[in-house]
Amino acid sequence: MKQKLIVGNWKMNGSLAANAALLQAIKQGLPAGNKAGVAVAAPAPYLAQVQAELAGTSIGVGAQDVSQHEQGAFTGEVSASMLKEFGVRYALVGHSERRQYHGETDAVVAAKAQAALAKGITPIVCVGETLAEREAGQTEAVVKRQLAAVIHQVGHCVSELVVAYEPVWAIGTGKTATPEQAQQVHAVLRAQLAAASDKADRMPLLYGGSMNAGNAAQLLAQADIDGGLIGGAALKAPDFLTIIAAAQ
Ligand code: PGA
Repeated sequence: MKQKLIVGNWKMNGSLAANAALLQAIKQGLPAGNKAGVAVAAPAPYLAQVQAELAGTSIGVGAQDVSQHEQGAFTGEVSASMLKEFGVRYALVGHSERRQYHGETDAVVAAKAQAALAKGITPIVCVGETLAEREAGQTEAVVKRQLAAVIHQVGHCVSELVVAYEPVWAIGTGKTATPEQAQQVHAVLRAQLAAASDKADRMPLLYGGSMNAGNAAQLLAQADIDGGLIGGAALKAPDFLTIIAAAQ
Protein backbone atom coordinates (compact mmCIF):
# COMPACT_ATOMS: atom_id res chain seq x y z
CA MET A 1 0.00 0.00 0.00
CA LYS A 2 1.05 3.53 -0.72
CA GLN A 3 2.61 5.41 2.19
CA LYS A 4 0.35 8.03 3.74
CA LEU A 5 1.64 11.50 4.60
CA ILE A 6 0.47 13.43 7.66
CA VAL A 7 1.55 17.07 7.87
CA GLY A 8 0.83 19.33 10.82
CA ASN A 9 0.25 22.98 9.95
CA TRP A 10 0.87 24.90 13.14
CA LYS A 11 -0.15 28.21 11.56
CA MET A 12 0.78 31.19 13.78
CA ASN A 13 0.84 29.21 17.00
CA GLY A 14 3.55 28.07 19.36
CA SER A 15 6.42 29.25 21.50
CA LEU A 16 9.83 27.80 22.24
CA ALA A 17 8.45 26.03 25.29
CA ALA A 18 5.21 24.83 23.68
CA ASN A 19 7.01 23.57 20.55
CA ALA A 20 9.55 21.64 22.60
CA ALA A 21 6.80 19.94 24.61
CA LEU A 22 4.71 19.16 21.52
CA LEU A 23 7.62 17.71 19.55
CA GLN A 24 8.79 15.68 22.51
CA ALA A 25 5.33 14.15 22.88
CA ILE A 26 5.06 13.43 19.16
CA LYS A 27 8.49 11.79 19.01
CA GLN A 28 7.71 9.63 22.03
CA GLY A 29 4.24 8.72 20.88
CA LEU A 30 4.91 7.70 17.27
CA PRO A 31 3.56 4.20 16.67
CA ALA A 32 6.25 1.51 16.80
CA GLY A 33 7.35 0.83 13.25
CA ASN A 34 5.47 3.90 12.01
CA LYS A 35 4.77 3.56 8.31
CA ALA A 36 3.36 7.02 7.63
CA GLY A 37 5.37 10.02 6.50
CA VAL A 38 5.08 12.74 9.14
CA ALA A 39 6.07 16.41 9.04
CA VAL A 40 5.28 19.63 10.87
CA ALA A 41 5.11 23.06 9.24
CA ALA A 42 6.27 25.58 11.82
CA PRO A 43 6.41 29.38 11.85
CA ALA A 44 9.71 30.54 10.30
CA PRO A 45 11.40 31.77 13.51
CA TYR A 46 11.09 28.29 15.00
CA LEU A 47 12.56 26.33 12.09
CA ALA A 48 15.99 26.09 13.73
CA GLN A 49 14.40 24.78 16.90
CA VAL A 50 12.24 22.28 15.05
CA GLN A 51 15.19 21.12 12.97
CA ALA A 52 17.23 20.52 16.15
CA GLU A 53 14.39 18.74 17.96
CA LEU A 54 13.69 16.50 14.98
CA ALA A 55 17.33 15.69 14.11
CA GLY A 56 17.79 11.96 13.81
CA THR A 57 14.04 11.28 13.59
CA SER A 58 11.98 10.43 10.52
CA ILE A 59 9.75 13.48 11.05
CA GLY A 60 10.21 16.14 8.40
CA VAL A 61 10.53 19.88 8.87
CA GLY A 62 8.06 22.01 6.94
CA ALA A 63 7.63 25.73 6.30
CA GLN A 64 4.26 27.43 5.93
CA ASP A 65 5.25 29.62 3.00
CA VAL A 66 8.19 30.38 0.75
CA SER A 67 9.10 33.42 -1.29
CA GLN A 68 8.86 33.24 -5.05
CA HIS A 69 12.05 35.34 -5.16
CA GLU A 70 15.59 34.07 -4.71
CA GLN A 71 17.04 36.99 -2.74
CA GLY A 72 17.17 40.75 -2.50
CA ALA A 73 14.89 43.61 -1.62
CA PHE A 74 11.83 41.66 -0.49
CA THR A 75 11.33 42.75 3.11
CA GLY A 76 9.75 40.10 5.28
CA GLU A 77 10.14 37.30 2.77
CA VAL A 78 11.97 34.01 3.36
CA SER A 79 13.64 32.31 0.41
CA ALA A 80 13.79 28.62 -0.44
CA SER A 81 17.59 28.65 0.02
CA MET A 82 17.15 29.99 3.54
CA LEU A 83 14.58 27.32 4.33
CA LYS A 84 16.90 24.69 2.93
CA GLU A 85 19.60 25.74 5.41
CA PHE A 86 17.23 24.73 8.20
CA GLY A 87 16.58 21.28 6.84
CA VAL A 88 13.16 22.15 5.43
CA ARG A 89 11.74 19.30 3.36
CA TYR A 90 8.25 20.66 2.63
CA ALA A 91 6.80 24.12 2.10
CA LEU A 92 3.09 24.87 2.04
CA VAL A 93 2.23 27.07 -0.92
CA GLY A 94 -1.08 28.73 -1.63
CA HIS A 95 -2.71 27.96 1.69
CA SER A 96 -6.15 29.59 1.59
CA GLU A 97 -5.15 31.92 4.42
CA ARG A 98 -2.28 33.19 2.24
CA ARG A 99 -4.59 33.54 -0.75
CA GLN A 100 -7.26 35.30 1.31
CA TYR A 101 -5.25 37.55 3.65
CA HIS A 102 -2.15 38.15 1.56
CA GLY A 103 -3.64 38.37 -1.89
CA GLU A 104 -1.75 35.42 -3.32
CA THR A 105 -2.92 34.76 -6.85
CA ASP A 106 -2.68 31.49 -8.77
CA ALA A 107 0.36 32.94 -10.54
CA VAL A 108 2.13 33.78 -7.28
CA VAL A 109 1.35 30.35 -5.87
CA ALA A 110 2.74 28.71 -9.00
CA ALA A 111 5.92 30.80 -8.78
CA LYS A 112 6.34 29.81 -5.14
CA ALA A 113 5.97 26.13 -5.99
CA GLN A 114 8.62 26.56 -8.67
CA ALA A 115 10.97 28.40 -6.29
CA ALA A 116 10.68 25.60 -3.71
CA LEU A 117 11.29 22.85 -6.28
CA ALA A 118 14.34 24.67 -7.60
CA LYS A 119 15.98 24.27 -4.18
CA GLY A 120 14.88 20.71 -3.58
CA ILE A 121 11.97 21.52 -1.28
CA THR A 122 8.69 19.71 -1.90
CA PRO A 123 5.84 22.18 -2.31
CA ILE A 124 2.54 21.19 -0.74
CA VAL A 125 0.19 23.00 -3.09
CA CYS A 126 -3.08 23.89 -1.38
CA VAL A 127 -6.26 24.23 -3.40
CA GLY A 128 -9.87 24.55 -2.35
CA GLU A 129 -13.17 26.29 -2.92
CA THR A 130 -15.04 28.72 -0.68
CA LEU A 131 -18.55 27.97 0.53
CA ALA A 132 -20.01 30.40 -2.02
CA GLU A 133 -18.11 28.66 -4.81
CA ARG A 134 -19.30 25.23 -3.67
CA GLU A 135 -22.89 26.42 -3.47
CA ALA A 136 -22.58 27.88 -6.95
CA GLY A 137 -21.45 24.50 -8.26
CA GLN A 138 -17.95 25.77 -9.03
CA THR A 139 -15.89 23.45 -6.83
CA GLU A 140 -14.36 21.48 -9.66
CA ALA A 141 -13.64 24.51 -11.81
CA VAL A 142 -11.97 26.37 -8.94
CA VAL A 143 -9.64 23.60 -7.80
CA LYS A 144 -8.75 22.73 -11.39
CA ARG A 145 -7.91 26.35 -12.15
CA GLN A 146 -5.75 26.61 -9.04
CA LEU A 147 -3.88 23.40 -9.80
CA ALA A 148 -3.55 24.11 -13.52
CA ALA A 149 -1.53 27.24 -12.81
CA VAL A 150 1.02 25.21 -10.85
CA ILE A 151 1.13 22.33 -13.34
CA HIS A 152 1.72 24.78 -16.15
CA GLN A 153 4.55 26.49 -14.26
CA VAL A 154 6.49 23.44 -13.05
CA GLY A 155 6.41 21.49 -16.31
CA HIS A 156 8.06 18.08 -16.07
CA CYS A 157 8.44 18.41 -12.26
CA VAL A 158 4.72 17.87 -11.67
CA SER A 159 5.30 14.47 -10.10
CA GLU A 160 7.41 16.09 -7.35
CA LEU A 161 4.43 18.03 -5.98
CA VAL A 162 2.26 17.18 -3.05
CA VAL A 163 -1.29 18.51 -3.49
CA ALA A 164 -3.62 19.30 -0.60
CA TYR A 165 -7.35 19.70 -1.13
CA GLU A 166 -8.58 22.07 1.56
CA PRO A 167 -12.15 23.28 1.15
CA VAL A 168 -12.04 26.76 2.65
CA TRP A 169 -15.38 26.25 4.39
CA ALA A 170 -13.92 23.30 6.30
CA ILE A 171 -10.77 24.99 7.59
CA GLY A 172 -10.85 25.68 11.30
CA THR A 173 -14.63 25.52 11.29
CA GLY A 174 -15.17 22.01 12.60
CA LYS A 175 -17.12 21.33 9.37
CA THR A 176 -15.24 18.52 7.71
CA ALA A 177 -15.97 17.52 4.13
CA THR A 178 -17.60 14.11 4.14
CA PRO A 179 -15.29 11.33 2.98
CA GLU A 180 -17.39 11.15 -0.20
CA GLN A 181 -17.17 14.89 -0.87
CA ALA A 182 -13.42 14.85 -0.35
CA GLN A 183 -12.89 11.73 -2.46
CA GLN A 184 -14.90 13.22 -5.30
CA VAL A 185 -12.60 16.25 -5.51
CA HIS A 186 -9.48 14.14 -5.00
CA ALA A 187 -10.47 12.00 -7.97
CA VAL A 188 -10.80 15.14 -10.10
CA LEU A 189 -7.35 16.32 -8.99
CA ARG A 190 -5.84 12.89 -9.59
CA ALA A 191 -7.22 12.85 -13.14
CA GLN A 192 -5.86 16.32 -13.76
CA LEU A 193 -2.42 15.26 -12.52
CA ALA A 194 -2.58 12.07 -14.58
CA ALA A 195 -3.05 14.15 -17.70
CA ALA A 196 0.25 15.91 -16.87
CA SER A 197 2.33 13.08 -15.41
CA ASP A 198 2.49 9.31 -15.72
CA LYS A 199 3.43 9.20 -12.02
CA ALA A 200 0.17 10.75 -10.78
CA ASP A 201 -0.85 7.53 -9.05
CA ARG A 202 2.14 7.79 -6.77
CA MET A 203 1.69 11.46 -5.88
CA PRO A 204 0.39 12.22 -2.38
CA LEU A 205 -2.98 13.98 -2.38
CA LEU A 206 -3.76 15.25 1.10
CA TYR A 207 -7.08 16.31 2.56
CA GLY A 208 -7.19 19.27 4.95
CA GLY A 209 -10.01 21.03 6.78
CA SER A 210 -11.01 20.01 10.30
CA MET A 211 -9.42 16.59 9.99
CA ASN A 212 -9.24 15.27 13.53
CA ALA A 213 -8.75 12.20 15.68
CA GLY A 214 -12.38 11.19 15.17
CA ASN A 215 -12.73 11.48 11.40
CA ALA A 216 -9.21 10.78 10.10
CA ALA A 217 -9.60 7.03 9.62
CA GLN A 218 -12.68 7.39 7.42
CA LEU A 219 -11.13 10.13 5.30
CA LEU A 220 -7.84 8.26 4.93
CA ALA A 221 -9.72 5.14 3.81
CA GLN A 222 -10.81 6.86 0.59
CA ALA A 223 -9.11 5.68 -2.59
CA ASP A 224 -7.54 9.00 -3.51
CA ILE A 225 -6.84 10.44 -0.06
CA ASP A 226 -3.19 9.77 0.67
CA GLY A 227 -2.81 11.78 3.83
CA GLY A 228 -3.82 14.87 5.73
CA LEU A 229 -2.86 18.48 6.30
CA ILE A 230 -3.85 19.09 9.88
CA GLY A 231 -4.30 22.48 11.54
CA GLY A 232 -5.95 22.63 14.96
CA ALA A 233 -5.56 18.94 15.74
CA ALA A 234 -1.81 19.11 15.07
CA LEU A 235 -1.34 21.32 18.12
CA LYS A 236 -2.47 18.59 20.48
CA ALA A 237 -0.06 15.65 20.58
CA PRO A 238 -2.67 12.97 21.43
CA ASP A 239 -4.90 14.07 18.53
CA PHE A 240 -2.04 14.34 16.05
CA LEU A 241 -0.76 10.92 17.14
CA THR A 242 -4.20 9.38 16.71
CA ILE A 243 -4.30 10.72 13.16
CA ILE A 244 -0.83 9.30 12.49
CA ALA A 245 -1.98 5.97 13.89
CA ALA A 246 -4.92 6.03 11.48
CA ALA A 247 -2.48 6.48 8.59
CA GLN A 248 -0.55 3.21 9.04
P1 PGA B 1 -7.78 22.84 10.37
O1 PGA B 1 -6.72 23.53 9.36
O2 PGA B 1 -7.34 21.39 10.48
O3 PGA B 1 -7.61 23.59 11.66
O4 PGA B 1 -9.11 22.97 9.75
C1 PGA B 1 -6.24 22.86 8.24
C2 PGA B 1 -5.38 23.79 7.44
O5 PGA B 1 -5.70 24.99 7.34
O6 PGA B 1 -4.34 23.38 6.88
